[in-house]
Amino acid sequence: MEPLIFDWSRAQRRNRQHHPATLGADASSPQDAAALSPFLRRQPAPLPEVSELEVVRHFTRLSQRNFSVDTHFYPLGSCTMKYNPKVCHTVAMLPGFLQRHPLEAVTTGQGVLACLYELQEMLGHLTGMAAVSLTPMAGAQGEFAGVAMIAAYHRTRGDAQRTEILIPDAAHGTNPASAALCGFTVREIPTDANGDVNLVALQAAVGPHTAGLMLTNPSTLGVFERCITRIAEIVHAAGGLLYYDGANLNAIAGRIRPGDMGFDAIHINVHKTFATPHGGGGPGAGPVGVAERLRPFLPVPMVGREQDGTYRWLTVEDCPQTIGRLSAFGGNIGILLRAYAYLRLTGAEGMRRVADYATLNANYLMACLVQAGFQTAFPARRASHEFIITLKNEAQQYHVTALDFAKRLLDFGFYAPTVYFPTLVPECLLIEPTETESKEVLDRFVAAMVAIRQEAMTDPQWVRDAPHAIPVPGGGHSRLDDTLAARKPDLRVPPLLGGR
Ligand SMILES: *Cc1c(COP(=O)(O)O)cnc(C)c1O
Repeated sequence: MEPLIFDWSRAQRRNRQHHPATLGADASSPQDAAALSPFLRRQPAPLPEVSELEVVRHFTRLSQRNFSVDTHFYPLGSCTMKYNPKVCHTVAMLPGFLQRHPLEAVTTGQGVLACLYELQEMLGHLTGMAAVSLTPMAGAQGEFAGVAMIAAYHRTRGDAQRTEILIPDAAHGTNPASAALCGFTVREIPTDANGDVNLVALQAAVGPHTAGLMLTNPSTLGVFERCITRIAEIVHAAGGLLYYDGANLNAIAGRIRPGDMGFDAIHINVHKTFATPHGGGGPGAGPVGVAERLRPFLPVPMVGREQDGTYRWLTVEDCPQTIGRLSAFGGNIGILLRAYAYLRLTGAEGMRRVADYATLNANYLMACLVQAGFQTAFPARRASHEFIITLKNEAQQYHVTALDFAKRLLDFGFYAPTVYFPTLVPECLLIEPTETESKEVLDRFVAAMVAIRQEAMTDPQWVRDAPHAIPVPGGGHSRLDDTLAARKPDLRVPPLLGGR
């Protein structure tokens, strides 16, 4: 069992500097102290009593048990886990940003508002949208905002019969969830054998009930939707709008723009494309951009610029048709500042190189794996910034699955690619190398995949039992039961030392 911080606890071994004797000792007046007293603890909190050095060692050791972009290649398809320049973090952590209270007057926050305003502008230019609101806290919340704006648009026009959102079967699960949360019925559109949207099915599905279509391009199948302008024509002709899921924007940024493809609303996962690796599920930010006709509905607050060059928050008074607020204050500003720093750092030229190298790395890795005998899901297609291989042959011949490969990759020092998503492709690995990896790292990954397949032929049980080199809670190095961990997580903290 991995020791808990409590296991290192010894009575009185505390760091007095960081341990005020009485809580409430910082009350500024006797009246304050009296007012606080009913809320004060009667007993000291049962905290571990450890020296500073023990605390540092304990948490440093735990952090080394993890995989991260700082320690390992992390080819997690669809999620874009790439190296992000540390300087973006440094900039966002400047004391002037970090210590600013969100309710402080705008007169003392012109700097941060200027950054946010410029970020709105840069994201608008980069995506070809008329206006941007930064306030959604994640991609999924951006989707919710986008669909809510589409709903508001139809409602404002008095068009009450548009109750359906069309979504390709390859879509991320958040797309149908967002549509359903906004009260729409979801209608699934099939993908054809080459990974494009089936146009015949789309044409048959659109009609007076169509509120819009949600699409990711390049799609989560790792291919660029070649008929996108035709798709936009079909949906627009039926009176619907187009929503762009921007999770894969890093594949095309600086080259082509969702606005030019015909999209009316988009979100941008700045934590996937513009700094901030989002391990552990957050934090993130999901700014939304819209075409002119959706501008009145954007969520507030946004940052506006006055004639005299000063900045201020635009609220519901400025935007009476807004869908409203989605987050406390301005959104996840620390993450937005990282995106701002990243865009400033790369510039328009650097942004194109990001997209180019993301695509080059994916196609290089795909070609190497094909050469090594692995099968891609769409052999006729070039990869975008990610691609899918299917291990259905390996599963049939050696009874070693995509999950087994993924677990064994951990032993080789690689975080596993996304497995079993998209659900259309059996035994799939969705691999996204990102633009920040060297050829040597990609070559080592191919060598590991080849080695695992060799093991699958000669000693399949070894692969099925993997990982062998990763310590697990409870001791040993065996495979954890994923289902049990998800359905019946054991989150108990053992009783504290000393029987407290
Ligand atoms: C990550 C992702 C989302 C959801 O974004 P979050 O920021 O995680 O909420 C939506 N669609 C696709 C294709 C994604 O990869």
